[in-house]
Amino acid sequence: MHIGVFLILKSHSIATANRPHRTLRNFVVYPKDKVKDEEKTELIYRVPCKNCCSSCIGETGRKFGLRIKEHKKEVDSFTAGTQTRVSRARESSVTHKPAIADHVVEEKHVIDWDKAKVVDRETQRQTRWIKEAFWIRKTPMCMNRDAESYQLSHTWYQVISRSRAPSSCKQSRRDQERCH
Ligand SMILES: [Zn+2]
Repeated sequence: MHIGVFLILKSHSIATANRPHRTLRNFVVYPKDKVKDEEKTELIYRVPCKNCCSSCIGETGRKFGLRIKEHKKEVDSFTAGTQTRVSRARESSVTHKPAIADHVVEEKHVIDWDKAKVVDRETQRQTRWIKEAFWIRKTPMCMNRDAESYQLSHTWYQVISRSRAPSSCKQSRRDQERCH
């Protein structure tokens, strides 16, 4: 046993002769939320761009780490230089690219995967979708172009608009609006 630990135990009159490991364990403080973000499930997440202030909002019932891996694959499949002519042709006919891939391809930007984070958690799937829509509206310069399909009521939109977080981005307003 480390002498320092021994002295602490001694000063607190804690018997060290019997089952010292058990006694020591009582001193260890565990954080309340031990689960790493990658292991978390049923959540809403945000993935930022490295080159501009845009972010992509998403939701998943599965593990966050797994979903981010899928996004990476998705982006790679659209940006890989080894694509065949057939796959390129197929790609050009696809009208709905995922929002992240679309941003990377159209803007030629790089996604900041390391800064992807969980912004909200919700176990109920429907409520999670609403929360996702909320975050899409709330996030300045959101990449999600299908944000409108959620059809949030006008009242809700007013409430959310008022609570929109101020952007620290220096880009012009015209550039910001292009991302919606
Ligand atoms: Zn960007």
